[in-house]
Amino acid sequence: MLLNPKAEKYEHLDSRSREIMLKTISFFESKGKEKCKEDLRGRVWHQDFFDFITENRIFADLLTPAKYAGAHKDARWDTARICDFNEILGFYGLSYWYAWQVSILGLGPIWMSANEKVKQKTADLLDQGGIFAFGLSERTHGADLYSSEMMLTPLAEGHYVADGGKYYIGNANKAALVSTFGKNSETGEYVFFVVDPRAENYDLVKNTVDWSGYVAEYALNAYPLTDDEILSTGQDAWDAALNTVNVGKFNLGWAALGIGQHCFYEAINHAAHRNLYGRVVTDFPHIRRLFTDAFTKLVAMKLFARRAADYMRAATAEDRRYLLYNPLVKMKVTCEGEEVVNLLWDVIAARGFEKDVYFENATRDIRTLPKLEGTVHVNMALIVKFMANYFFNPAVFPDVPKHSNPADDTFLFNQGATRGLSKIHFHDYRIAYEGLDLPNANIFKEQIGLLRNLLMSAPPGKDQSKDIDFLLSLGELFTLVAYGQLIIEAAGLEDMDKDVLDQIFDFMIRDFSKFALQLSQKTGATAEQSALCMKMIKNPTRDQARYQRVWDNHIAHLVDAYAQNP
Ligand SMILES: Cc1cc2nc3c(=O)[nH]c(=O)nc-3n(C[C@H](O)[C@H](O)[C@H](O)COP(=O)(O)OP(=O)(O)OC[C@H]3O[C@@H](n4cnc5c(N)ncnc54)[C@H](O)[C@@H]3O)c2cc1C
Repeated sequence: MLLNPKAEKYEHLDSRSREIMLKTISFFESKGKEKCKEDLRGRVWHQDFFDFITENRIFADLLTPAKYAGAHKDARWDTARICDFNEILGFYGLSYWYAWQVSILGLGPIWMSANEKVKQKTADLLDQGGIFAFGLSERTHGADLYSSEMMLTPLAEGHYVADGGKYYIGNANKAALVSTFGKNSETGEYVFFVVDPRAENYDLVKNTVDWSGYVAEYALNAYPLTDDEILSTGQDAWDAALNTVNVGKFNLGWAALGIGQHCFYEAINHAAHRNLYGRVVTDFPHIRRLFTDAFTKLVAMKLFARRAADYMRAATAEDRRYLLYNPLVKMKVTCEGEEVVNLLWDVIAARGFEKDVYFENATRDIRTLPKLEGTVHVNMALIVKFMANYFFNPAVFPDVPKHSNPADDTFLFNQGATRGLSKIHFHDYRIAYEGLDLPNANIFKEQIGLLRNLLMSAPPGKDQSKDIDFLLSLGELFTLVAYGQLIIEAAGLEDMDKDVLDQIFDFMIRDFSKFALQLSQKTGATAEQSALCMKMIKNPTRDQARYQRVWDNHIAHLVDAYAQNP
């Protein structure tokens, strides 16, 4: 159930996609852990990786939509294989993944635009091994895009100059093109345009971070542009910004999965070969509990993220359910990744600080993912808009099958207007839950019923609806319901071992209880709400035999199953 790069055959992919994954794994295994670590210590820009990507046309095949692929028949934007590639890069190092991720973001406004000239040029640049960048954030504005100060000033017909600064922009040192968001200084309209870091009026100020990745501050000083470089204006530019983040933020969950799984192997290999007080560390009951929680959380993350990808690929203008599941991959899966590393850190302990382990970097890297591309708060504020329709106004949709076959996901670049979130409908979550009869899943269903009861009999009042602190805790409970739903759907499609599934609901019950307690203790909660929350606090079943089977059948054999080549 966990990725083992040395054993994974990628049989679910077509031959070219399989070749990309296996060659990439081989690149990192040949490079070896020692050299990977040395480069990180030296803050070395990963030129060897970019050369490998160029020689093997990897970004070109994975990130060029079929329409712009020319003679390259294997090029397409295929979410299934993009997920696999994300996972591999996260597994070997976040700074490699980051260069790929911000390339995806940089390409978003380009592939979404109507500027055919830039699109053709971009396909050529990808073919030559180009990487890309996404210039949205500014130093003083954070998530507040309305306040963007990058200005585009019109000159004579079709000519402009751009002035302003951007901050925290990955790859902006070496990108072939940097998609840049700003405003028209005369009309105040939003605009997206591309700039070239090699141009004279482009000032690469600095790397804002001490890392192998380059997270730039750059300034445009009377940077000359023509209509040829303008990607979109007005509402289209705004939508391109948000729709690009919709495409990109999905990847963060897969990076967290990659990181968590590599940490798992390092932790279990270490613990299984350590003998304390005459006992192997993996035999301590609390260590088994930590591994079991970490393992089941990783499996749940993967099931949820896979199923969410199915909904991304099935999305249409009428079926926008992905707009809930996608922020959950970003927010919930990355936070679970952080939790997995926390659990494993208590096992690997001092060894996790040593300079020769992957774990040392992972402990810091894993923390970035919940904070990038919209913090947890921003994503939670987004998803609570879906809560009323999710619980009380379901609609009927055709079944969404498991979708890992080769396809060009064209809708992602035609998502349309970003408005109307609270009007989006979902299929009834109870269908998935009713189809599963397992002891812990049944307790979890009771908890959901109590949450529904709270929403009906003591819903958030007018003031509470404006109290983000209150909504964040309520949103955590809602998140768990949708998380469990897609986990059940994915498990059904993959015919998963019921022991593991019930063990997943063991931690789900505990997490639900924790968030219910938090909500009950909010200053803004009413006495009635607090009392209802307290009823949601429940214990999982105590099934020692199942717990033991999960260890014996799924976790114990992971000892020495994988270690990166030295
Ligand atoms: C390593 C790194 C790489 C990055 N790469 C890029 C890149 O390539 N391109 C790019 O454009 N940006 C990039 N960023 C910027 C990053 O995506 C955002 O800036 C970040 O998501 C928000 O962090 P902030 O400190 O600006 O938070 P702020 O937006 O300043 O938020 C401050 C606090 O207010 C909360 N908050 C803000 N708005 C809301 C809201 N609506 N509802 C509820 N709470 C809210 C936040 O959760 C946070 O707690 C990068 C950042 C880093 C650190």
